[in-house]
Amino acid sequence: MRCPICEKGELKKGKVKETMYGVYLGEFPAEICSACGESFTDSETTKKIEETAKKKGIWGLGKKTKVSRTGNSLAVRIPKDVADFLKLEEGRDVFIHPDGTNLVIEAKA
Ligand SMILES: [Zn+2]
Repeated sequence: MRCPICEKGELKKGKVKETMYGVYLGEFPAEICSACGESFTDSETTKKIEETAKKKGIWGLGKKTKVSRTGNSLAVRIPKDVADFLKLEEGRDVFIHPDGTNLVIEAKA
């Protein structure tokens, strides 16, 4: 089958290493493009990936949050489940920096 993304390569059976939010989920069967490297999983595998992410407690951790003002600074609300996952507590030191147009908050001590 021809790759629907680049329309140049052929799709071949292989395995992909899946990660979500930096957490390794495992290897899953996929069709991989010989030209662009794009991988495609069937609906059953996609469901398995979702189940693995749920078991590891990371499913749904990516979400919208609001920027608010506190004095002259801006504050970003960190949802409770994200804070729990990262074991973030009030008063903890974190390191923030831009990464292109993204804001990175390094929670690692
Ligand atoms: Zn391709």
